[in-house]
Amino acid sequence: LEKEVCSLNSLLDHIVTLLNTQAIIKNIYIQKHEKSKDVYVSCISNQIKQVFMNFIKNAIEAMDCGEIIVNVNKDDTYAIVEVIDEGCGIPESMLARVGEPFFTTKEKGTGLGLMVSYQIIEDHGGEIEVESKEGVGTRFTVKIPL
Ligand code: ADP
Ligand code: MG
Repeated sequence: LEKEVCSLNSLLDHIVTLLNTQAIIKNIYIQKHEKSKDVYVSCISNQIKQVFMNFIKNAIEAMDCGEIIVNVNKDDTYAIVEVIDEGCGIPESMLARVGEPFFTTKEKGTGLGLMVSYQIIEDHGGEIEVESKEGVGTRFTVKIPL
């Protein structure tokens, strides 16, 4: 598979459009903020799309209604995307286990989405951070080298 230069802003616009119908049914509004305009990364774009599909789907599944914020930014070395939800949150005792193969708290979950996402981001030389508070929400931060 070949890497290509792609705009994270357009890639995320595409993903948000795909997931919006699913979100709106639950009265969830996905707000994307372009904190930086030209955020380009060299990537396998279908894989990076998969990553953000996974994060935003998890956010939708964690919420009854509310807002999901997707921030796109960059620093000197990384493109930085935050996916912030107002959902159920992840108990501290479980935080270390998210991303473990087959770890799921959902009746029909696979527990594979985050594992695949962590793998893809590692393959791209990036990293993922997670902060969460039970009953308040969750923030996933994805960094991909520019
Ligand atoms: P699945 O969605 O099939 O359960 P994932 O790998 O995508 O598998 O997620 C693993 C688990 O991590 C979920 O079952 C859930 O408990 C937790 N999780 C992931 N994202 C969130 C989120 N945004 N809010 C709350 N819990 C989450
Ligand atoms: Mg999932």
